Amino acid sequence: MFITRFAPSPTGHLHLGHAFSALYGFQLSQKHHGQLLLRIEDIDKGRCRPEFETAIYDDLTWLGLDWPKPVRRQSEHMDDYAGALKRLTEMGLLYPCFCTRKQILQQAAESSRAPHGPDGLLYPGSCRDLSDSERQNRMDHCDPYALRLDMARACSRVGALTWHDRQRGEQQARPEMFGDVVLARKDTPTSYHLAVTLDDHLQGVTCVVRGVDLFQASHVHRLLQALLGLDVPEYDHHRLLTDEQGKRFAKRDRSVTLREMRGRGVNPEEVLRLIGVKS
Ligand code: GLU
Repeated sequence: MFITRFAPSPTGHLHLGHAFSALYGFQLSQKHHGQLLLRIEDIDKGRCRPEFETAIYDDLTWLGLDWPKPVRRQSEHMDDYAGALKRLTEMGLLYPCFCTRKQILQQAAESSRAPHGPDGLLYPGSCRDLSDSERQNRMDHCDPYALRLDMARACSRVGALTWHDRQRGEQQARPEMFGDVVLARKDTPTSYHLAVTLDDHLQGVTCVVRGVDLFQASHVHRLLQALLGLDVPEYDHHRLLTDEQGKRFAKRDRSVTLREMRGRGVNPEEVLRLIGVKS
């Protein structure tokens, strides 16, 4: 069965761009006689708020969407992410990184080359080469650390990979452009890349629908699938909706949130018209 998902983070109110993404996934699932799942991506404890989660359910229902219950909330599945991290650790592919953001910027400033990837500055790898005793020493001192993937080692373990995007065709996976990505953050023992990849597998998602701003992330997700033996879905990265000035919608811009529009008396049909989706 065709299964896709809409996976918002409850860090603000949904806006027109979210409505487009949810309806795009919903219509695709209908076309394939499948299902659209809703997933709440709430690993960021500092930014997620329960009232935004409630608003997500309200706003999507107002738009006319429905989804299988219960929804998966990432914060309730930390054991799944811990299990995956354990496996990657046993494969020798993770290392603790004690660097602060400031130190990483400083290391880049001092280096003659500071390559960038899709998420910004690439990690220069300073903690990759720490000795076991130094690592242990810093852990014994309770220095906070993230877990990073040793990208070169991970890539050489799985060899060449491909993935398929419904709009752009076959892709050669190029996860190395991200460098040693963080798979468990200092403040929460998982990361976007790890949680989303594992969840899509565990929820039986056959087609990942999301905005083209996350296109590059799929290279990393394909690598994680290969390392962890997960199913490989296909992908459909849709265009991003923009305002009249060509600017992407943002949660902080209240005028385009569904909540604000509802308050102004806009009806759901009007929202569908605005985002160019036929009901
Ligand atoms: N939670 C992400 C967001 O709100 C979407 C992640 C995904 O679709 O893979 O932007």
